[in-house]
Amino acid sequence: LYSARKEALIRPLLDRFTEETGIEVKLVTGKADALLQRLKSEGINSPADLLVTVDAGNLHRAKAAGLTQPVISETLASAVPEPYRAPAGHWVGLSLRARPILYVKDRVDPASLSTYEALSDEAFKGRICIRSSSNVYNQSLVASMIAANGEAATEAWAEGLVKNLARPPRGGDRDQIRAAAAGECDIAVANTYYLAGMLKSGDADQLAAAESMAVFWPNQPGQGDGRGAHVNVSGAALTQSARNKEAAIQLMEYLVRPESQAWYAEVNGEYPVREGVAVSPVLENWGTFEADALNLERLGELNGDAVRLMDRAGWR
Ligand code: FE
Repeated sequence: LYSARKEALIRPLLDRFTEETGIEVKLVTGKADALLQRLKSEGINSPADLLVTVDAGNLHRAKAAGLTQPVISETLASAVPEPYRAPAGHWVGLSLRARPILYVKDRVDPASLSTYEALSDEAFKGRICIRSSSNVYNQSLVASMIAANGEAATEAWAEGLVKNLARPPRGGDRDQIRAAAAGECDIAVANTYYLAGMLKSGDADQLAAAESMAVFWPNQPGQGDGRGAHVNVSGAALTQSARNKEAAIQLMEYLVRPESQAWYAEVNGEYPVREGVAVSPVLENWGTFEADALNLERLGELNGDAVRLMDRAGWR
């Protein structure tokens, strides 16, 4: 198993799988891009049976590079909602991550917020922090907007958003949250598991920063087109080179069981991909939300368009 998730965030689940099935799992962890590169250079001789990585953009890249093969599994199809798996079975979501709008409680009236689209309004001039366009999370967000609104409207939006940035994009999602808490901006766009991570970090500064922020779910019914908040997945793909195909599929199916889903989502601060699995109190506190029902494979397909569009709009 090649995993872009850190060992501590997946090993205990693999150990339980081994206990139950007797199937041993050899784990190799690394950065998403490095693992993809490694799979490419190893080709058909790769010892990997499964790739676990984050973002549908990365999963699609693996598929597009011919590194994956389809899995036909009733268990996966019934456990994982249709938007969160590739139509032909080349990857399946394991956890759900949401990328809503985060705002500073003291300075922003949530009634002034509505949609991602509205973030390009003049009212937000100099008030927004978001990371760079080289980041796949933002590329996927923009891809979802192209799917919803078309390319021309999304490009105009991106130009407006860039004008509203409080500072040139730098750092990761956590840095946007910290910058907002420190007064550099009022609004940050970030994945919620970073906020969850800061809340349980045990670090007083991070805790204070996270506590000054609240989650706003954009594009809910009645807001704009009401398509739902942008979500993404971490997921798994069976490699083209898989020599232990059946065992690998068994592991995929194990990872979407309700108990696995609860554990995996909890330690990662994410949402279960499967419906009907309880979430942690921290997440429950942020309320429920409607998610964009777009099949996430589209995010991968539109990635190139999104990247070029962001570049034209001057999103660094
Ligand atoms: Fe992340």
